[in-house]
Amino acid sequence: MDLLSSLNEAQQQAVLHFEGPALVVAGAGSGKTRTVVHRIAYLLRERRVYPGEILAVTFTNKAAGEMKERLEKMVGGLAGDLWVSTFHSAALRILRVYGEWVGLKPGFVVYDDDDQGTLLKEILKDLNLEARPGQFRAVLDRIKNRLGGVGEFLREAPDFVAGVPKEQAAEVFHLYQKALRGQGAVDFNDLLLLAIELFEEHPEILAKVRQRARFIHVDEYQDTNPVQYKLTRLLAGEKPNLVVVGDPDQSIYGFRNADINNILSFTKDYPGAKVFRLEANYRSTAAILEVANAVIEKNTARLEKTLRPVKGGGEKVRLFRAPNAREEAAFVAREIARRGSFGQIAVLYRTNAQSRLLEEHLRRAGIPARLVGAVGFYERREVKDLLAYARVAVNPLDTLSLRRIVNTPPRGIGASTVGKLLEYAQKQGISALEAFRHAQQVISRPQQVEAFVRLVDDLIEAAYDTGPREFLKRVLEETGYLETLRAEPDGEERIANVEELLRAAGDWEEEVGGTLADFLDTIALTASAEEPAKRVQDGKLEDPEAGGDEVTLMTLHNAKGLEFPVVFLVGVEENLLPHRNSLSRLEDLEEERRLFYVGITRAQETLYLSYAEEREVYGKREYTRESRFLADVPPELLEEVSAFGSAGAAVVIRPAKVEEKKPLGAFKGGEKVRHPRFGQGTVVAALGAEVTVHFPSVGLKKLAVQFAGLERI
Ligand code: ATP
Ligand code: MG
Repeated sequence: MDLLSSLNEAQQQAVLHFEGPALVVAGAGSGKTRTVVHRIAYLLRERRVYPGEILAVTFTNKAAGEMKERLEKMVGGLAGDLWVSTFHSAALRILRVYGEWVGLKPGFVVYDDDDQGTLLKEILKDLNLEARPGQFRAVLDRIKNRLGGVGEFLREAPDFVAGVPKEQAAEVFHLYQKALRGQGAVDFNDLLLLAIELFEEHPEILAKVRQRARFIHVDEYQDTNPVQYKLTRLLAGEKPNLVVVGDPDQSIYGFRNADINNILSFTKDYPGAKVFRLEANYRSTAAILEVANAVIEKNTARLEKTLRPVKGGGEKVRLFRAPNAREEAAFVAREIARRGSFGQIAVLYRTNAQSRLLEEHLRRAGIPARLVGAVGFYERREVKDLLAYARVAVNPLDTLSLRRIVNTPPRGIGASTVGKLLEYAQKQGISALEAFRHAQQVISRPQQVEAFVRLVDDLIEAAYDTGPREFLKRVLEETGYLETLRAEPDGEERIANVEELLRAAGDWEEEVGGTLADFLDTIALTASAEEPAKRVQDGKLEDPEAGGDEVTLMTLHNAKGLEFPVVFLVGVEENLLPHRNSLSRLEDLEEERRLFYVGITRAQETLYLSYAEEREVYGKREYTRESRFLADVPPELLEEVSAFGSAGAAVVIRPAKVEEKKPLGAFKGGEKVRHPRFGQGTVVAALGAEVTVHFPSVGLKKLAVQFAGLERI
């Protein structure tokens, strides 16, 4: 494949850019990622850059895998030594080699959120602090994402953090870091911070790594946080051969400290940077793109950009108003069943909790689906915690579940107490719960354990005569588990999942019915029935064969950078999109609108929007309204569909008004034309929006008629 001829002019310019900093800033689907890929291929093939000198940073591991694959197809063996990865895996790779320079042990492990929480919990307990680890984790994350240390924290934090005086909070962080290292561990944020520390303190190592990254590319630059910004700067060095690409309208990780200013001030940070703007969208039909443009225009904080469709016409966007969330899911399943070609379809939603109903309806309809970037609903921690209570109540011998719930939510029963009791159980040959009953004989202060045993006994009794929904509600009431979740950084989401579990239990009672034990059986079967659907966790557990003929389910956040012929964007209603937490600040609201924009622009041919007028939220039935963002969609581009789909609805080509914008005077083979840069040439072939011209100056060129600026002569 000729690396240049399959690109438009602006893209070619960016690919031809060689040394020095450059920014490619452009709207969705304009070929930014494609430009990066072609540029790397061009560096390898035409400029003879050694693959071991090229680094490309992507936003997810999945994106990295795809980029590498595309490059392998384009340049074959040369791609082998390329370094394509996320910031985090790049940092991890560096630390695996040089970690000892910053005090890491060779086999250090990376703790996940859960481990992090457990560690903080223990520290708070040791210090006798009545604070919630979740809140501490949130603060810790914030500090680390902003490059702060304990010192900065002491300067900038309010006097009290999570109800604790800040000096003491600083002590918690200090002990946390110490414990982490003591156990040979780092957390996710540490990966980047330690890489920075390594580079700052050991310039000789930085110099070595720079050789491995003489040409750097960063995709999705609009969503870099201050730590990633700094890492990029360090790697790029004094003579930055750095190309970043991004779209400020797709900055959707502000809530995780991504800083849109990184892309906005690139030319200031890297003086002399070239700027390339891509204005042709190759992904979506004109109709979809016009909807996207109309929506994003309503944001106040944005740079004006032009984004024009290459594909003309298209179907109208379909809107389905569902009376309730179940009907919405049923509609989606029916439409998908009718369409077939499951691999071309994605269902996108704002919150993970929305996936359960969709999963369920797709399963019932026999439609294969995979959930991307999230653990399956029944594998989620909060869901597992609650179900562990049910398991213990149904089967008091279940020690694993007992251990799971003994201090969840925290009730002052530490690991050493549990250890002693379990040891006693083993010695006496009795069950763990039995041993708990003898706490008085085993430990010095048995009160908490005794209270816990009373709770378990109550629940065992309740299991006989209450249905699953009642039972789970009772667990929540008696344990205060919701309050614990509420204090966590992602508490909202977790609480929503708990509510979703209650709803699932309610649905099951209505539709199937039976005892708590029966309910647990159903879940066990459901969970194993889900096995064949590939579960992908942000690339880490990526199944190499994923992407077959299955519907893809994922959050809007996870859909970044991807494209699908058919997209269902569900839950386009107030309190979901925009999310209820984003209603009070304009900044947050605009981030929600960008999220909507990202969703719309994933669609290539067909876009469905839907919302439910009634949804159960926090255990209560809530009446909702369509999202305010829908008002921004030009009505003439919207087509309402009924519950039984749009099978009979005509495919509508966009009105002439929009067609007029395309100066598509069809060229014919043999015609003489003039191009602003290549000069005079002869049309060799013309197909739709593309025309191939032979120029004596540069040879054959494939051009987009609309943008090439060709003149007939
Ligand atoms: P996003 O902002 O969503 O990340 P993007 O700007 O990175 O989008 P790409 O994913 O690179 O866009 O490209 C969108 C689609 O358009 C892809 O299918 C890509 O192959 C196609 N495309 C891009 N440029 C061209 C071109 N010059 N000719 C034909 N197809 C193109
Ligand atoms: Mg992209």
